[in-house]
Formats: sequence, C-alpha cells, structure tokens
Amino acid sequence: MAGTTVTKVGDYEVLVSGSAVAFWPLDPWSSLAGAVSPIVVAPSSGSSAGTVVTSVVGVFDIAIAVAEGLTESEVAPVTLPPSPGGKATIKKAPLFGKVGQTMHLRFAVDHSKLHKTDNWSGTLRLSSKTTSGGAVQTNITLAVAYTATVSNLFVFFAPNTKLKKNAWVTLEARQKGGGAVANASVDLKVLRDNLPSGYTGVNRRAPLTTNGGGQVISGTARPILSVPVDWPVIFTFTSGAHVTGAHMIRLDKDAADEDNFNATEIGPAVLVPRAAASLKGKTFILDAGHGVVYGYLKARRCQEWYVAHRVADRIRAILMSEHKVDAGDIYFSRSAGFGLIEPSQVHLNTAPEAGEAKYKVDLPQKKIAAKTAAVGLHDLAKLLLTTHSGDHDTADALSSSNYEGFLARNTATVNAIVARVNGQLTAAHARVQPGSVTWDDHKHRYVYMKEKQNAAGDWQKAGTTDLPITTNDWFALDSQAIAVLADRSARWSLAAEVGPGPALGGKSFASAARAALKAAGALDYFRQKILFYVNVTAPHSYLDHGTKAWGPSERSKFFNDYQSQLSAAGTPLSMVVSLHENAGKGKGGTVLVSHKPGADEPPDDQVRIGKTMVKYLDPFDHGTRSGGVSKDLPVNPAGMLYHGNQARDIYAYFESEFMDATDPNDSTRFSYEAMVEAPFIEALARQVVCGVVEWLLAPQADLEDVKYMGGSIKGLW
Ligand SMILES: [Zn+2]
Repeated sequence: MAGTTVTKVGDYEVLVSGSAVAFWPLDPWSSLAGAVSPIVVAPSSGSSAGTVVTSVVGVFDIAIAVAEGLTESEVAPVTLPPSPGGKATIKKAPLFGKVGQTMHLRFAVDHSKLHKTDNWSGTLRLSSKTTSGGAVQTNITLAVAYTATVSNLFVFFAPNTKLKKNAWVTLEARQKGGGAVANASVDLKVLRDNLPSGYTGVNRRAPLTTNGGGQVISGTARPILSVPVDWPVIFTFTSGAHVTGAHMIRLDKDAADEDNFNATEIGPAVLVPRAAASLKGKTFILDAGHGVVYGYLKARRCQEWYVAHRVADRIRAILMSEHKVDAGDIYFSRSAGFGLIEPSQVHLNTAPEAGEAKYKVDLPQKKIAAKTAAVGLHDLAKLLLTTHSGDHDTADALSSSNYEGFLARNTATVNAIVARVNGQLTAAHARVQPGSVTWDDHKHRYVYMKEKQNAAGDWQKAGTTDLPITTNDWFALDSQAIAVLADRSARWSLAAEVGPGPALGGKSFASAARAALKAAGALDYFRQKILFYVNVTAPHSYLDHGTKAWGPSERSKFFNDYQSQLSAAGTPLSMVVSLHENAGKGKGGTVLVSHKPGADEPPDDQVRIGKTMVKYLDPFDHGTRSGGVSKDLPVNPAGMLYHGNQARDIYAYFESEFMDATDPNDSTRFSYEAMVEAPFIEALARQVVCGVVEWLLAPQADLEDVKYMGGSIKGLW
C-alpha cells in the first residue's frame, strides 16, 4: 500500500486535570471486547510468571460527527493496534475521517493509579482548523469506571473559533398524547446565524435517528450525545407519521463540566402525529407583503409580493388539506388591487395616481365617474374598454362597435344624461333626437343628434353634438370593465412596480426579476388575484379602502377588526402571518419584531412565536439572518410591527431570504430567480406551517430558556 494516504480532520488529546497525558490509540474496527484485555507476555527465562506489560486501562469507543467548515489533510496511514500494548507514550493522535461524516474513535486511558472504586475522569480535546485557517477545538469531559469500557457516546464536533466546549445530553422524542416516536430521522444542527460573530459560512449538522423507544441515538446504540454549549442547537425530527417537529436547546457553559455519566436530559421533544394535527376551528389571516398596485407608494415591490402571495397560497392549501382548517377560516389581507391607469400610461410609474386625479370609483357599488369636468365619456370608455396584448403591452385598437357596446352597458345612465340634456334644451325648443346617442368615429366622441322645432312644430336635425357628462354621471364598473382594468394593472405592475436591487455580473436585478416573474406566469397570477380581491359581494372590507392593494395601516385595521369580530363571537383569531422577502444582498431569513420601546415594543408572545419559527425557517438551508429573530431597522421601519397592529401577540412577520442575493445553488443568478420556483415556495410554506402547528398544538415547553447571544430581545431571545 505504498504511496497511499488517509484523510484526517484534526487531532485529539487526552487531558487529566488540564494536562495532556499519554494514552493508547486503538483500532476502532477490531473487537471491542479484545481492546480491554491486559496483554500478558510469556514468562522470560528466570521469571516464574508472565509479565503484564500493559497498564490497567479504561477504553472509550466514540462516534464523532465532523461538521463542515473544518480542514482535511492527507497523511500517511497508521496501523493501530487492537489493544493497548506496552507503556503509553502518545499524547496526540490524528482524527482519521472526513468532514461531513461520522468517524469512529477508540482509545485506552491509564488506570494503573486509579482506585478500583473510582471513575477515571478527564477531557477529550478535539482540535482542527477551519477552512479559513483558524484553530478550533472542542473539549469534552469524559469518565469511565475502573477498567471498564464506554461505547455509548456520540460527539458532535462542530466548533468555531469562539465555542470550545461540548456537554452531554440525552433526548427522547414523544408524541403528543403519549407514546414514543420511533425510527425518526433526526437532523442535529448548530443554529447558523450568519453573523461574523456567530456561526456563519457553513452548516454544522449531523444525522441521528430515534430508536424504538424514541431515544435519539447515533448508530444503533449511542444515546449519550455531546453537543456544543452556549449556543442554540436544534434537533429536527422527520417521521412519516408525524408533523416535522424541532426541539431547540441551549446549554449553559457549566454543563460542559459534567461527564458522560451525568448527561442532561433535554427533552422530551414532542411531535404531533399527523392524524392528530387538526387545526379545525382555528382562524388565520395570511398577509402577503406589498402588492399589485400597492397603495403604499414608497414600498412598491410587486416581485416581493408575488413570492409572498404564492407562499401564502401554499400555506393555506396545506392548512386545509393536512390540518383540516376550513376555507372560510383563512383570510388574506387585500394585497392586489387595480389602478385607473389610462391605456397610454401602461408603463408610466405614476399612472395609478394620475388616474385617481381624473376618475373616481365607488367600489362597493361597482361604479365609476369622472372626477373633473375635463374628462369626457370617450375617456371613460377608452379607460374601461382598451385591452392590451403582447410582450410590449400594446394597446389594442377599439372599433366603433366596441364604443357602441359601452353605451349598451350603461343604458340607464345614458338615458338620464339625455333627459338632463333635454331639460336644458327645452327653452330653446331643442332636444336630443330620440335614439340618436352614438359613437362618432370621425370626431372620436360620443355624440347625439340635436333637433330643433320649426314654426310648424316639426323636429328638424340641427347637427351632431358631443354628449356631455358630469361628475355625477356614474358608469358601470361591470365584470368586463374590471377585467380590463385588472389586465392593464397587472401589466403596469410588471412594468413599473418591480423594485430595484444591486446588479449581479452586469445583470440588472429589476430586469432579471421581471423576466423571472413573466416566465413563472405572473401576469396571469396578478390578474387572477386582483379579481379575487375585487369580485366580492358588498359590503366587504376588501371594498372599503379604494381600488389599490392595502397599505400597512389598512392591513392593521383589518387584523384588528377581524380579531374584534371573532373575539365577540367567542372564537378568537388564532394567528396572523405576514410574509416578506428581504433585499440588500444578505443571507438567511428572519422573523422581524419591533425595535421600538414602550407601546411599540413587541409582546412577549410575538418573540416566542419568532423563536418557534426559527427552528424551522431556512428555505435555502443556509442558516438564518441575524439569529433568526431580529428587530426592524430604525432606517427601515416596518409599520405593522408597532402598536397599531393589535394582533401582534399572535403574529409572525417573516423576512424570508434576500431577493437580490446570489442564488446559493447557482452563482449566475439572483436568489429571486429561485424564489419564484416551486421548491422554494414549497419549502418555505411547509416551514411556516410546521411553526404554526407547533405553536398552536404543542409548543416546546422549555423554549423560554433558550436564548440567542445576549437575550437582547426582551430577554427572551
Ligand atoms: Zn417587504
């Protein structure tokens, strides 16, 4: 085997009372029983008995999962003996194994000076280097009885440059209502916060399982688990019969002083059986951030809304199909609307506001009128009739019969106008010729034939005259008109409402996002959602605040009103979820809470909900943003986090991933281009639902003790 090498990920030492001692590295693949037999050599001449050349020893047999982020190196292979022989001389030995894998380590420690009734106590020190060159180590307190063997240990070797100790734990998975959760897959991970001062750069995780009794184990029989202290650590359980559940802990530094005989029981982790995961009777508001023709002008970002709303759709579908929530118990805040956008302004940023200066709408009555005397009936007709086509949103030409058709849809109003005009003409012995109101393609105006009475009393034509309208003449905002406005608004939104972002490799964010939206079918989706929110029967709160998508204050009012209404009925609102995506080229998602004090401080339960969500939120599987629950920035306040929103104690506000970051799986595109795709939407929706199920059905009892960094959010996180 000359020339071959083996991979190592670091070294290990054994310490007693803080000093490195000699030990015997052993072959982990030989018989464990053989490792403890003292080695006796045959009597040499002159001796009457064999000589015990090996000290009395205790043996440790340990599985070690090596987390990502450590350096591998190639070294010459070493042949390890199956059992200790001779005097121990080695004080440091290689950790043979690979990053991301679970390795097997065995060594013997000297018991020759140990009282037979005592345990040997010491420290296993694992050391390595990070891929960026920083020295890291993990210290693990160990014990073994006199001449005994310990073989039930698993160590998660997941250091960074600051965290240097592990502590021993045991954890059982129980199902809500009783019984063990057997044979679940368990993902053990260190909370990755992506802050330079915390755990960033890579995921540190290890695969475990539960045994038949629900005990979390490595391999088949290692239930004593060594995990990092002083930092949140998350166990995520996946089991066919249970809703995915996660258990988060944070051990005190002091816990690292305890040995493997004094592991801390950190459970149970409680999982909800799928069959018992009913949320029937629970009520929800899903609030997709931003909107189509968003009423809050300075936050127009339809691309953000699209992902948020698609995720909200999936959350709703999962709540209904897997958790028995009734369709009528899930409301959306109204996040898609339409503008009174003139056909020639389909790409003009200010078009919805320009339209509001010219036209007025009574949405509950579904009618529209001119707002100023300068607006003619032809303007209204053009607004409500013009369709668009093609990639450039070209306005389709209107025919005379299109214009005529508009009159037919508004007969009562036209008749009333004619009656009014007749009233004005009577004194002059003039009138509107009955049935003469029509579209004049030449004049490009609606006209009527004016008649005058001659001396004999006969009516005679006196020329075509423009049909005048007033600001009190209301025309139908019928389904055809709304469909036209919805289509134009959807096109306008894609052209003018995609927010900006930094470039990637010369590619503009807005154009990449727009292309991704169009490829995903956003134009049709926008239209459908506008109609979904507008085609409701009055009276309806969706119709109460104008034609555009609601801004933050209208949404808060909706939460508050619906919460009051449900409370009065004795069925309190269960949860409100706002969905946003971040911008500014960061990494990871976060649940946002208010940075403000006093009345605007987040309620405790809002922070607790955030902590619950942190366990699940990671749609790109690359960690959270700033610890997963964070405060909004004073320079970029989120109004719905403040006291005007009275539902904050049942509220989760997600900023899930950065749209303008680089796709973690494809460096040539923006994250946004992945976020419009089904895998991201599905992952995020399921993560939110897992948090909802836990919060409403089986909240982790001891989550209160788990804090991130200094507990800077109300001492709770
Ligand atoms: Zn947002």
